This record gives sequence, C-alpha cells and structure tokens, in this order.
Amino acid sequence: MLNRGIGSWPARRARKTPDRIAIVHEDGPEDGGITYRALHQRVLRLAHALRSLGVARGDRIAHLGPNHPAYLETLFASGVLGAVFVPLNTRLAAAELAYSLADSGSTVLVHDPELGDTAAEAAADTGVRHRITLGPAAPGAVGYDDLLAGAAADPLDEAVAPDDPCMIMYTSGTTGRPKGAVLTHANITWNSVNVLVDSDLAADEVTLVVAPLFHTAALNMTCLPTLLKGGRVVLMGAFDAERVLEVVERRRVTYLFGVPTMYDALAARPRWTTTDLSSLRTLTCGGAPVPARTIDTYLARGLAFSQGYGMTEASPGVLFLDREQTSAKAGSAGVPHFFTDARVVLPDGSAARPGERGEILVNGPNIMAGYWNRPQDTAAALTDDGWLRTGDVARTDDDGYAYIVDRVKDMFVSGGENVYPAEVEAALLTHPAVRECAVIGVPHEVWGEVGHAVLVLEPGARADAGADVDVEEILAHARTLLAKYKIPRTVTLAESLPRTASGKIVKAAVRASHAHP
Ligand code: ATP
Ligand code: MG
Repeated sequence: MLNRGIGSWPARRARKTPDRIAIVHEDGPEDGGITYRALHQRVLRLAHALRSLGVARGDRIAHLGPNHPAYLETLFASGVLGAVFVPLNTRLAAAELAYSLADSGSTVLVHDPELGDTAAEAAADTGVRHRITLGPAAPGAVGYDDLLAGAAADPLDEAVAPDDPCMIMYTSGTTGRPKGAVLTHANITWNSVNVLVDSDLAADEVTLVVAPLFHTAALNMTCLPTLLKGGRVVLMGAFDAERVLEVVERRRVTYLFGVPTMYDALAARPRWTTTDLSSLRTLTCGGAPVPARTIDTYLARGLAFSQGYGMTEASPGVLFLDREQTSAKAGSAGVPHFFTDARVVLPDGSAARPGERGEILVNGPNIMAGYWNRPQDTAAALTDDGWLRTGDVARTDDDGYAYIVDRVKDMFVSGGENVYPAEVEAALLTHPAVRECAVIGVPHEVWGEVGHAVLVLEPGARADAGADVDVEEILAHARTLLAKYKIPRTVTLAESLPRTASGKIVKAAVRASHAHP
C-alpha cells in the first residue's frame, strides 16, 4: 500500500539524503540537529505510538505549542497513519481552544509542557482521549519522549491518497471566528511545488522559521517546501528581532519569510546595520499589506525582497512577486504562483479591466477541499467551478500584476465613493511620525460614513510637538496624497493597535473601541 501523502516525505528524503540535517531547534541543545534518517525513524516511532493509542485513519490529532521539531514530527506521523493534523494557536484562551478541539473532533492533543494546565482545561469536555506532553510524562499526560523510546520504527503501510485530508488549519480569525480549512495532501504538495518553482529554493537552503507554525505561512511557505527539497529548517520558538538577526548571521540563513511587522522590527534594531546579511537569498513578506517603506528599507540594503499574497484556504500561496520585479512593480503582490490562477471580478461577475477594482478569485490544486463542518461557509467561499472567493479587493495593471487593495468587508462608502482603508493607511504611514495606523468607517449624517483614524505615533513625535499639532500636520500630508473624501474626519491616538498573533490589525476590535470617539 502506497502512501502518496506528505507523511511519506521523511521516508522518501531518508532514502535520498539520509545524512543531511533536516531540522535544527534553535532553542534546543546545540548538538547539530535532526538528520533526515533520524526524522524518518522518529516519525515512524511516533506513528506506531499513536496507533497504539487508538489513532486510526481520518482521526484528528491536535498540536498546541511553540515551534519545535515535535510539531513537524506530529504532522508527518499523522500523515503516515492517514490521520489529520490540527495545529492550534497558542495565543488562544482555554475556552477558545476547547472550541477548536471540539469543532475538529480531535482525539489526541500533543502539547508543550508549559501549556499543560491550559491544555488540560481545554481538553476536559471535548473528545480528546489522550494528552501527550513534550518531555517527560505529567499528570494526565503521556510523555512524548517515553512514547518514542517505547515504540518500534518498523515501516507502516497505510495507504494515503493525494486527495485525503492532511490538515485542518484554522484561519487567523481577523474578521470573525477562525474557520477550519481542510487542506489535502495534494493541496499542500502543490503549494510546496509552487514555492520551489517561484522562490527557486535549493537543496542547500537554510530556512529560518520565526513565525508560529500554527499559521499557514510558516508551515506551508517555509518548512514544507524546504524539507521537500532536502534543505535545512531552523526553528525558533518565538519571534525575537535581536535573536533573529544573530541567528541569520551565525547559521548563514538563506530563506526567511515574515509578516510586515516582523520585517519592520528587524530593521528597527540597532544591530540591523552591523549584522552580516550576505547569506540571505530570498526574503518573502506577506500575510498583510506590506508598507512601501518596508520594501524600500530592504531594497536599500541590497536584499532580494518579495511580496507574496495568500490565505489559509489556498494552502496558502496565491500571488508572488518575482525578485527581479520588486522595484519595477513596487507594491504589487505579483502574478499567480506557477500552478495557480487568479482573476479579478466585478460585483456582477464580469471580469474587471486593468485598473478596475474587484474581488480576487483563485483556482488551482492548492485550493482547500472546504471548511470543516461548515457547509454554508464552504458553499459561500467556493464556486461550483472551483474558484475560491477570497473576500479581498484587488486590481491589476496592464501587465497582469496584481495589487491587493483591501478586504471587501473593511471598505466603507463616503458620499457615494468607495473608500478602502488600507489605501488611506498606506498614505498615513508615509508620514515619518506615524508608526502604525488603522482606519475605519464611522457613521456620518451627511456622507453616510466617514473615515476615522487611530494613530500610533513614533516615540518622541508626541513629546516634541504636542499631539494636536502633529495630527493636523499628518492629515495635511495625507491631503497631498489622497482625494478629499478619503481623508479621515476624526483621529484618536493610541499606544498600540489590537493585532492577531500574526500581526494583523483586528478591525472589529478597533471599531468596538473607537467607533464613537
Ligand atoms: P479570517 O479569515 O479568519 O478572518 P485571515 O483572513 O486574516 O482571518 P489568513 O488566512 O491567515 O486569515 O490571512 C489571509 C488574508 O491576509 C488574506 O485574505 C488577505 O486579506 C491578507 N493578506 C495576505 N497577504 C496579503 C498581502 N500581501 N497584502 C495584503 N493583504 C494580505
Ligand atoms: Mg480570511
């Protein structure tokens, strides 16, 4: 019986490149990392152990913890058994985790020892029958190391087909409750192939993973393509800008993926100017609108910096800007990945012309099978002929390069004109005193809705000049860049903005606290 899923990757790699290092744990002991041979053995042992706990084909296995080799081992072992991997967000509270555990129907929960109490509380009234804690056993939980030590490493011959479900990955929950996207082995494989083709990853890749693996980009844009190619994955448990720079230099990192806030944090460190970044071949940024100044900072350093656009439901890569085009097409998220297609449509379903704004739809072998247990949401997201409605607005230029405008849901109408907050935010961010900002539509008697901006100023900007003066100057600056109806009518200052674990601004939370300034 053949395994055609990603659970077979460690075995296939072990027969090709057994002695190459697959995974290094930057927070673990400095002993060189896990080779592909060792990874294969460990995955088989874990699969046997899971099977002895009763895990069968189609069962769901959840994981809760920071980036760690066990994360990938659990994913692959699930794949060996034809079981479905469910990564959970470590920032969620026990009640929210319980929702995901119950929603996914997970029967096993693998977790970090430091999250033991949360895991126990979350799993209590769900279908979770076994908890496995990394390290030694703990009350109510079997020890991961004990399980591996006690299990055989014999081959397992469960048949897994490309269209079998591989993982249920929850969306970021930026616009509402996270939805579980069912991604098949084929979805994940094709996404990895897209990344290899378009980012030109090589067998000598050293990929630093700094974003949390429970988000689609860290797992599917960085780890899996690198492991498919036989490169090396360096895992960091949590993002720390200073350490990222240090590790890039010391480990000669070649590939890095990050959300815009991460790249901004790196460039803000004093160490940024003195760090040797010459090993970096590919820097990819996405997951949220990428400010022009972020791109400029990296290009000025002579680095190949590319923007990508994607979403959990697309496994996740949709658009990618080739590094040769970063300057010529600044601000564009590029063209569709090699095996993926996209089109921009108007509300009546007709194709948008270049320059016209419409919703971007995506098709390809990387598009999810559907949302787990949510037939209505699935029907709303997937058209009968296989197109995924992204809920994002985009336009293309004459060469077909796409520019992401904003989420359909965040648009508001002022005096009959559509306003896309992301465009206003990008303009405000070009003022040097503005560190972060969020724009929302608020009700207005005359215009229906008008913009309201929440600004986080650069440290010092407030103290120097007094808040009122700054704000007026910032708005005056925006007026030189934007039509009048787009300029926010009211402004409040904040210390920070509510963001998701992946750094995205949660507009609903901004609306809740600032809708009535
Ligand atoms: P939820 O669907 O639960 O509300 P989410 O959409 O933030 O959360 P993800 O799948 O992690 O969950 O993120 C995908 C979204 O991120 C896209 O639909 C888009 O709105 C945004 N995004 C991704 N890349 C870019 C980019 N390069 N530019 C602008 N927006 C981006
Ligand atoms: Mg979404």
